[in-house]
Amino acid sequence: MPAPRAEVTAFVALGANLGDAGQALREALAALAGLPGIRVLRASRLYRTAPIDSSGPDYINAVVEIATTLTAPALLDALQALEQAAGRERPYRNAPRTLDLDLLLYGESRIQSPTLTVPHPRMGDRAFVLVPLHEIAPGRVSREALDAVAGQPIEPCQPQRG
Ligand code: ADP
Ligand code: MG
Repeated sequence: MPAPRAEVTAFVALGANLGDAGQALREALAALAGLPGIRVLRASRLYRTAPIDSSGPDYINAVVEIATTLTAPALLDALQALEQAAGRERPYRNAPRTLDLDLLLYGESRIQSPTLTVPHPRMGDRAFVLVPLHEIAPGRVSREALDAVAGQPIEPCQPQRG
């Protein structure tokens, strides 16, 4: 029997701005947690942000930390299957979406393939990624990085727990 693969810590960004976006994110979180080979370790609060390079209603965004035995390409496949299940369509680039799941970080890996770039190439430009990531993993986001996106309005949908 092959040895089980070791778990890798990864971070996934969730976003949606069509339909009941908050509900879409809560369902995606539950679906993610139910997938074989994925354990959800920590989830940020949900945040509301104005669309950037996109259009339509405000976005709801969050970031989750997972432990996974999936390879990075297999994890991307799983994320895309969840997007499809949520009715994701891609009529044009940066179109409004029912659910977007982006792989931000996969352990310390650097990956550059035609279909997958990790760390996610645009995460450093986006408050809607950096703010929730900082909430659950402050060591992964520098003060300078947060300062660089401080002009982008973002507010939590719920008050801080505890
Ligand atoms: P975006 O998230 O940039 O708005 P899409 O969700 O439509 O756009 O993704 C477009 C493509 O980006 C996907 O088909 C996927 O192959 C590719 N991609 C590259 N790197 C990543 C990553 N780290 N996470 C998610 N998708 C990625
Ligand atoms: Mg995406």
